[in-house]
Order: sequence, then C-alpha cells, then structure tokens
Amino acid sequence: GSGDIYDRMCELVKENPDIEVCFEAEAAHRDGEIGIKKSGCHGFCEMGPLMRVEPQGILYTKVQLEDCDEIFHKTIEKGEIVRHLLFKQGDVEYPKQEDIPFYKKQTRHVLKNCGQIDAENIKEYLSAGGYQALEKVLFEMKPAEVIQEITKSNLRGRGGGGFQTGYKWSQVARQREKKRYVVCNGDEGDPGAFMDRSIMEGDPHKMIEGMMIAACAVGADEGYIYVRAEYPLAIARLKLAIAQAEECGLLGSNILGTDFSFCLHINRGAGAFVCGEGSALTASIEGNRGMPRVKPPRTVEQGLFGKPTVLNNVETFANVPLIITEGAQWFRNIGPENSPGTKAFALTGSVKHTGLIEVPMGTTLREVIYDIGGGIKGDGKFKAVQIGGPSGGCLISPHLDVSLDFDSLKKMGAMIGSGGLVVMDDKTCMVEVARFFMNFTQNESCGKCVPCREGTKRMLEILERIVAGNGEPEDLDLLEELALTITETALCGLGKSAALPVMSTLKLFRDEYEEHVMDKK
Ligand code: SF4
Repeated sequence: GSGDIYDRMCELVKENPDIEVCFEAEAAHRDGEIGIKKSGCHGFCEMGPLMRVEPQGILYTKVQLEDCDEIFHKTIEKGEIVRHLLFKQGDVEYPKQEDIPFYKKQTRHVLKNCGQIDAENIKEYLSAGGYQALEKVLFEMKPAEVIQEITKSNLRGRGGGGFQTGYKWSQVARQREKKRYVVCNGDEGDPGAFMDRSIMEGDPHKMIEGMMIAACAVGADEGYIYVRAEYPLAIARLKLAIAQAEECGLLGSNILGTDFSFCLHINRGAGAFVCGEGSALTASIEGNRGMPRVKPPRTVEQGLFGKPTVLNNVETFANVPLIITEGAQWFRNIGPENSPGTKAFALTGSVKHTGLIEVPMGTTLREVIYDIGGGIKGDGKFKAVQIGGPSGGCLISPHLDVSLDFDSLKKMGAMIGSGGLVVMDDKTCMVEVARFFMNFTQNESCGKCVPCREGTKRMLEILERIVAGNGEPEDLDLLEELALTITETALCGLGKSAALPVMSTLKLFRDEYEEHVMDKK
C-alpha cells in the first residue's frame, strides 16, 4: 500500500537522503517491472535534477526527493503527468524533452548518448552502436584510409586551435620512429567550460573509441588521457570504462583477435591551466613540471617521452567514431565548408537557460542566446558575450548574426576556444570582466618567459587601479602597449592570448574604460 511505501521511503530518506536511492527502492519493490538508469548530463543543468520517464519520453525537471512518491503513483502507475515538474516557458508546458526550445534547436551528435545511456555500463554503449567504428577500422580499412577519411571530413581540433585533425595524424604516421603515442587532452581549464567533462562523465567510451581509431591509424600502441584532478567523477567513469573495455577484449593485446594492441592510462593533472598546452601537458605526464617548451620540434615529431604523438582534445576524439561510421561526407554536410560538424558550448551567464548545448558550426549567436538560451535573464538587455574563455574575446549586438565557426570568429578578433560562452547583460562592467580574466591568466602564467610573467602582472595592476577608480588616462595607452608586446613575444598560447579580453573590451567598450579613469575617486 502507499502507506507502507511512504513509511519505507521515510526510512530511506533518513538513512540516505538521495533521489536515486529512493527511486531504486521503489523500483525494487515492484519486482523488476521498472528499471532505474543513471545517465550522464542531459545538458539542461540549471533545471536539474532531471528525470526522463520511458517509454512515454516525459522529462521532469528540478525533481526533488519528495516528488518521488508522486512520480511513481501518477506517471509510472497511472500514466498521468505531474504538471509542476514539467518545464514551462511562458504559458507553454513541455512534457517531452525533444519539444523544449532549449533542445529543439540543437543537433546532438557528440552529446547524443549523454543523458541517454548509463555511462558505467559498456553494454549500453555497445547497444547504441558503440565500437562499430573501431570494428570497421580494424576489419575493413587500412590505416592510410582512416587518415584519409578524417582528412576528407575536415575535422578541426575542438580544443581551441582548430587545427586539421587528419593532417596532424598524417604527420605522426610518417615519422621514422615506430613508438608512437595517442594522448587525449581532458584538462579543460577555462572558467565556465564543462563540455569535455560532460563527455567523459556521460559517454566515456566514445572518446576512448576515437583514441583507439587514432592509434590504429598512426600505429600507436599506447595512450594517455590527461584529466584534471578536479573531475573525480570523470576519472572514475573513465577508469571503469577502460576496465570494462579490457574485459570485453576491446583494449589490451590483440584487440578483437587482430594484431592491433593498445593500452590506455589515465593521468591526473593538478589543475594548471597551462597544462592544456601540448608541450606542458606532455611534460606533466612525464613527471616534469608542466611548462611549455620552444617549438620545433612539434608534438607530432617529438611529443610524449620524445616520441611522435597525436594530441587531440576530448570532443575531437568523440567526433571520430561518428565520422568513420557515417562517412566524411555526412560530417561535411553539417555546418560551413571550412568548419564542418557540430560544436558543444557551455552556455552560462545572464541567459535564462544555461547548460551544455551542441549546435552545428555556423549557428548564429542570436540563435544560441535567444532560441536555445531563452534570451537575457530578468529585465536586462544583451550587452556582450565572452567566447573562448580567458584566451578569447568579446562579441556584441552587431555580432549577433555572425556564424559561430573558427574562421568567422577569428576575423572578429575572437575565437571559438574550447567552447565557453559567458553571456553578459547591460549591468555588467566590462573593465571588471577584463580584470577578472587577466587575474585568471596572471595566476595561471607558468612564469617561464618574461613577457607573460611580468607583463600580465603589470596589466593586472593597471586594471585593478582603473577598477578601483585610481586610473589615469595614460593607463589605457599603457594597457594597449603591454598587450601588443605580450601577444608578440610570449612563448606559448596562454601568453599570446592573455591580452585578448583586454584588447577586445578596450576596442568595443573604450568609453567604459574612459569613464572609469575620468570619474576618479
Ligand atoms: Fe609560461 Fe606564460 Fe611563457 Fe606560456 S607565455 S611559457 S604560460 S610564462
């Protein structure tokens, strides 16, 4: 009876106040008629905890412990909808996930399994078509054909640089040295970015499969996943995924009875932003201090342990199985010619609906902010968006219809970066925004080269002075001069792009800087 259930739930809640435990207990009580599946992130983070009831496909938002009983009694037993748990926009209620505007404008290929499958069970990935691309590569393709397919797809690195993946792989494959490595960069350090984390937590096998395909293509037998230690769930799920793949004969020696062998390690990073840079990352795996080095030699020639290395980020690898299964042409049909495919963005800031989204490259900022994000929160107006994190730049209203892709953004003085989108409303002080990002970069500077080590410090001092109301008009020229010097002379990407938020806000919001230095305290 419902009284018993209620009593038992109260006991459970007392012992372990957890929604999942509650649902599992209820399901167990019904002798296996109902299954509870824990999935990865659905992307609609601010509406969580989310619950999808199948086969009806009803999506409940902001589910609380006390809703458990109602969901069981109404939806699961009687097929009725619990109205107050539905997502509402204006006067419209959305029972199905697919109809919610946040999801409707998205094209979820890389994130397709996130929120759908149980990331801790390899069988779920296999039943969703997982490891079929690897099978195709092992039994139907030659390594050179794999590289050709990836090159034809024009897949560009999703970590920020937008470098051609196929070209990178071909450079590793042509090296004389036979020991090669495949490394995945999961050191997502941009404030406000969590795309890679979601993939590693929600669909870890997809990127592992992508890494294995890369290994097959370039002749590598060993790989590393570099994940920041602040992502414990991602690390746990990756460990489990590796163990399950090994158990199924999908990782290790003679994979699926072939002569291809691949072993995969996880390396936890200590949270230094600079370790997202290739040579700093490989130095950190080697047990050295994570500092960039002068190039050449490039990572493809002498990367990890001095051997040729394929280094791509999580999202890039997660695209690979899709390209192999669906074909390069399928991939090229999504988005613009020069930046095909989709891109995952972490949409945050002053937007009504924040979360993790995936859209075709070439989608406009307007579509992302207004159609998917539901517009600006409260009664504010759109002012700017910081794209690409601390290495990126600002876009403003006249840029709302610019296509979000590598080349269009570069022309605007911004960059796609790894995919952080921080939306700001008209109450935001842009000088403070520049100070925030400069503070971050200055803290993260590894100190190896003078322009970045000293230059970012001086820029931060000036910005702090201006924000505090003690700036001088000459400070603006000084900021520009320092920005130019650091950009031109810093050793690595962190330093070269450190001044971008300042340059971009100075260009677009100079009046705000001037107001600060004129209205001195
Ligand atoms: Fe280190 Fe900055 Fe120089 Fe890069 S630019 S090597 S982060 S000091």
